[in-house]
Amino acid sequence: MIKDGKYRPLFLNGKIGQGSYSLVSVCKNEESLDKEHKVKVVLKDENFIKGYDVYVFQSENIQRQIIDYLKLNNSTYICGVGETDTLVDKDVIEISPDTLTIRVLYRANSIDNFLMLTNKCNNNCIMCPDSLKVRTENKNIPISILKKYIELIDKKVEFLCITGGEPTLLKEDFIEVIRYLREKLSGTEYLLLTNGRMFYKKRFVEAFVKNAPENLITAIPIHGHYPELHDNISGVKGSFIQSFYGVKNLYKLGAKIEIRVVINKLNYNVITNIAAMISDYFPKVVRVNFMAMEMLGNAVVNREKVWIDFNSVQEKLKEAVFILLKSGIETRIYNFPLCSLDESIWNLSVRSISDYKIRYKQQCNECSVMKNCGGFFNSTINMKDLKVKPIK
Ligand code: SF4
Repeated sequence: MIKDGKYRPLFLNGKIGQGSYSLVSVCKNEESLDKEHKVKVVLKDENFIKGYDVYVFQSENIQRQIIDYLKLNNSTYICGVGETDTLVDKDVIEISPDTLTIRVLYRANSIDNFLMLTNKCNNNCIMCPDSLKVRTENKNIPISILKKYIELIDKKVEFLCITGGEPTLLKEDFIEVIRYLREKLSGTEYLLLTNGRMFYKKRFVEAFVKNAPENLITAIPIHGHYPELHDNISGVKGSFIQSFYGVKNLYKLGAKIEIRVVINKLNYNVITNIAAMISDYFPKVVRVNFMAMEMLGNAVVNREKVWIDFNSVQEKLKEAVFILLKSGIETRIYNFPLCSLDESIWNLSVRSISDYKIRYKQQCNECSVMKNCGGFFNSTINMKDLKVKPIK
């Protein structure tokens, strides 16, 4: 979520480039020129200041003497980049002059930045918003790049999400990233998104808890209250036992845990049983989040099997929420529009969809609670049976 609510693209494309792959932080604000800022975003040629390693120019036709200077110094640059005004001071960007692309990895004016450790996953969840192809591509991010990214992030960052794929698949490198975050960004709050299966292993879970930053919450999905249901949704036989004991091991070691229940056609009828299981076994988790699906990747491929409209879920969701609340467990609801929830649980609904993915239906403009409603994912808004009921 961007603090001022303005749209920000994640990719910017240029027209002309030179140099090598660079991971750099942005310096747009002349007042904060310091060594940590390695890129100068130049909106007009006359603002060009010598002494930076990497340059991003808005203009395509930069002056001859600037080009000569950059060539002479073997500097990396991209010019003719649209939307440079969306970059802000202290952003971290990845520049690929070969493909003429700038990818915004860290958005300094956003409250939901993330650190993606790998695209790979050892589950193949039936409603995963990534496709099997994305999760099996061989695109390992070297630990040196992950560490450089961590070094470039503003020390004052309040929140970071650690995600994948499945981050724990990096094994020792995962523990090292966790330790490095604790060392470099100790004041930050973290949410680790994991299927929790690796925490089944005693030595691994102990190393994780020992090295994790103090303010880290581990978020693990539980898809069912018995193995066959969970394994059917996760796509891996035996995964329930590993995730369940992963949670149990973390719980025993005093780690902060969030349990996530992604609601789909296969489990919406038993979310009350899942809630009861959580309150029986893990009454001291930090919170439980019920979440609606994002209809991308596997979720689209399997839409006949997994899609359930929000209104059909309403009754069971309310019941499940009250089971948890009665046990004193904080409960939240993600990705559900307000008009699909009973009004008694509106206060648990979080505006959770990332700013660049939020969409509303035409009728939402007539709704009195639109400002508080998180709307729909861009990928979900056109699903069949999806109706809105503007609140008057
Ligand atoms: S009508 Fe639209 S804005 Fe209003 S609660 Fe429903 S989805 Fe949200």
